[in-house]
Amino acid sequence: MTSAVMSLLLFSCGSSNRKSGNQSTTESEQEMMKAIDVPSFDADSAFQYTKDQCDFGPRVPNSQAHKACAKFLANKLRSFGAQVTEQAVDLIAYDDKMLHCVNIIGSYKPESKKRIALFSHWDSRPFADHDSDVKNRHTPIDGANDGASGVGVLLELARQIQKKSPEMGVDIVFFDAEDYGAPEYYKGEKKDEYWCLGSQYWARQPHVSDYMARYGILLDMVGGKDASFYYEYYSMQYASKLTKKIWSVAKELGYGRYFISEDGGGVTDDHVFVNQLMHLPTTDIIPYQANNKHSSFGSTWHTLNDNMSAISVETLKAVGQTITTVVYREQ
Ligand SMILES: [Zn+2]
Repeated sequence: MTSAVMSLLLFSCGSSNRKSGNQSTTESEQEMMKAIDVPSFDADSAFQYTKDQCDFGPRVPNSQAHKACAKFLANKLRSFGAQVTEQAVDLIAYDDKMLHCVNIIGSYKPESKKRIALFSHWDSRPFADHDSDVKNRHTPIDGANDGASGVGVLLELARQIQKKSPEMGVDIVFFDAEDYGAPEYYKGEKKDEYWCLGSQYWARQPHVSDYMARYGILLDMVGGKDASFYYEYYSMQYASKLTKKIWSVAKELGYGRYFISEDGGGVTDDHVFVNQLMHLPTTDIIPYQANNKHSSFGSTWHTLNDNMSAISVETLKAVGQTITTVVYREQ
């Protein structure tokens, strides 16, 4: 847990003010070249945090499990030294049901203007509307991958941040009610806005007024077996530089098998609302399997099989180590 991955910070020669003929590096370049100690991301710990959430049962808004897990997440972030904001709000679902929601935000170095925002949704889907068995389609899901995995990765990163602070201020934001969109069998109109209720609220009413960060990274379904992540359409529209940077870091770390530097699909996910409502350039790390018969998100998507048996420690490591490296290298 304490060993560190050493990595050299790469810098652009274009911004160097080195005089021609003078081969010696400037002081700032030497500073930049110094090896940056990137913590080794512990995927076993991320796996455990993923399981801890599932152990509450499906985290569907208005349920006991949802309430208990919210408390667990806020306490966990606090125990890792974050300044925690619990943004409680009632939001209206597609079927006019009132949902008691809470976005949970853990901030590090809240005074710093240099910030990175990291997002994941913590609720789980109220209905397994894509389950192969019709009888299951009204049953809520564990959401081990769809929800808990991203939160698990970010909790482990929070634990690392407490041990060794990166240069940047970091906000870890757990959105509620991402997955309360109208089910497949719903007869009424299915609007994009029925999804991502927590992030829409946060993007309009951030926990800090005039909130801004250098960029945002959303993790969604980042623990699946055989996951592969492609450039997502809206991420490329709004944050192509960031997206390409993350994918190239992953490749450099040896995770090119997971992070494929090619275009994938477009997804209405929390990052779309953060990009459009808040203009915070945000990318989405989300699986894309073009040839999967069930869904491009993988075989367990919105089924009862999205439980802990669907989670791979290796995938959590690939995503977690990549994000950790991106965060610690940022100056
Ligand atoms: Zn989902």
